[in-house]
Amino acid sequence: MKLKINHEQLLDGLSVGIIAFNVDAEITYANGKAIAWLGLVCEVDSRRLVQPTWQIVDKFGEPLPFEKYPGYLAAHSDEPIENYEIGVFNHLENCLYWFLCDAYKSPTERKGTYHYVVTFTNITAQKELIPFKEVVEHANDAVIVSDAIDLKGSGPSIVYVNKEFTRLTGYSYEEAIGRTTDIVQGEKTSPVAKKHIIECLSQGKPVREEIINYTKSGQPYWIDVNIVPLKNDSGVVTHYAAIERDITKIKDKAFNLEKLAKTDALTEVLNRRGLNQDGERFINLARHNEKSFVVAVMDIDRFKNVNDTHGHDVGDVVLKSLADILVDNIRTRDLVSRMGGEEFVILLEGDSLPLMIQKIENLRQLIEKHVTIIKDDLSIQVTCSFGIAVAEEGVDLLRHYLKLADVALYQSKNSGRNKISVANYDHP
Ligand code: GH3
Ligand code: MG
Ligand code: MG
Repeated sequence: MKLKINHEQLLDGLSVGIIAFNVDAEITYANGKAIAWLGLVCEVDSRRLVQPTWQIVDKFGEPLPFEKYPGYLAAHSDEPIENYEIGVFNHLENCLYWFLCDAYKSPTERKGTYHYVVTFTNITAQKELIPFKEVVEHANDAVIVSDAIDLKGSGPSIVYVNKEFTRLTGYSYEEAIGRTTDIVQGEKTSPVAKKHIIECLSQGKPVREEIINYTKSGQPYWIDVNIVPLKNDSGVVTHYAAIERDITKIKDKAFNLEKLAKTDALTEVLNRRGLNQDGERFINLARHNEKSFVVAVMDIDRFKNVNDTHGHDVGDVVLKSLADILVDNIRTRDLVSRMGGEEFVILLEGDSLPLMIQKIENLRQLIEKHVTIIKDDLSIQVTCSFGIAVAEEGVDLLRHYLKLADVALYQSKNSGRNKISVANYDHP
């Protein structure tokens, strides 16, 4: 006895999605599952089933080009396509479904023409069974998960760390669990960055910062950290996951490059660029601490003679030895810079103005007495002239003080050299 079957009903009852395309890639048939899973809609005018915009990814989540769609592959191959894994974004449900697809050509009644049939087995649930913990365990970034209980008090306590965390910090899994994230923070961990992190997390927002952390042995390292609040099914934040990338090498490189760009190659003191950067900061800091300061410009007397007589290389040795005298006889918080050629700038702060002026005078005397030994039968002595500008009420521009100091230097040169002159200060 022949069974009477309603094919359409049968296809709708299947637990796979089925779509047939024509040669123009138009959907000629879709069963119920395919319509639901792929989010197909019926175009009002043509009554065709379409997906507004196909967004298909490969099994790694990378966008799939049209030539790799299963239907397209089947249309261009004599062999059926089997177990082809793709993800399709469902625009109606706003989610991604994962499928294993089979695709094949099926002859139509018209000779030489085909339907292209694609079947979809829904593997979304299995995909979610991916052992994410294993993936995290072997990640190159350190991962810390903490509970979301106490953000402001002693800090959230750690419930999970991966292997990279242990490698990076020296804390074993057992040592880290139950402790607060404070264990990796220390003296140079920016309180501003920490505050920003707490602010974002307490609003349930993810946050990214570059911050200094510390290993178990107290070694600081830079991390680029991404912290995301994790929510349970009811939308309540239960945990924070921090994904941390060690960027110490990048930071060191950037720091060294910056230092290189600020340093004069011959004398190893700040160059003009370094002076502009650090000089402004120096003045601002002195102001902040309510300290006075002086800006002195120093120029070697008749230095051209040294070069002309002994050569440029000898001149360079003298320049280096003068820079060394300056560096050796100021405090580390003061600044020395070679502004160019044979001109140096010295910034002193923190003492009374007469004392700082006296310190410049002492430098002049030290240089005057200093002998630079070039070789056994050649040593060189030079003198320097100085122009000094002292801190003025309400003026913080380094440029202003350099200009005044230059005028004073000119006075020193004009009145016989090997002298100091002060621009804007009457000796008490
Ligand atoms: P004054 O007392 O008026 O300053 O005389 P001076 O000869 O020092 O001044 P001037 O500005 O006429 O010449 C500066 C000289 O400094 C010119 C150049 O020979 C020398 N000089 C500038 N930069 C360098 C350098 O990098 N290396 C060496 N060896 N000499 C330099
Ligand atoms: Mg000069
Ligand atoms: Mg000179």
